[in-house]
Amino acid sequence: MTKAEKELYGKIARLGCSLCRYLKLGETECEIHHIRRFGGKRSNAEVIGLCPEHHRGNSGVHGLGRKGFEARYGIDEQTLLLHTHQLLGII
Ligand SMILES: [Zn+2]
Ligand SMILES: [Zn+2]
Repeated sequence: MTKAEKELYGKIARLGCSLCRYLKLGETECEIHHIRRFGGKRSNAEVIGLCPEHHRGNSGVHGLGRKGFEARYGIDEQTLLLHTHQLLGII
């Protein structure tokens, strides 16, 4: 991991869970979740913050799967990534 990536991950981690923010549940401690582009390989920059439940829990992205997650919350990983980048002023 490069220094720039480490800094980016730190900033994303400090924003808290991107889904909790979207659901207006406030700022919660988060873990870094890597988003895999469809058919593509893992890119180091494509990460969002998700709290333990929304990450690895039964109601989380890994528990529900990408489609289940989208159906349940009405938002997908790419949109959460967009929100994260907007908050950071990357785009
Ligand atoms: Zn959450
Ligand atoms: Zn993950």
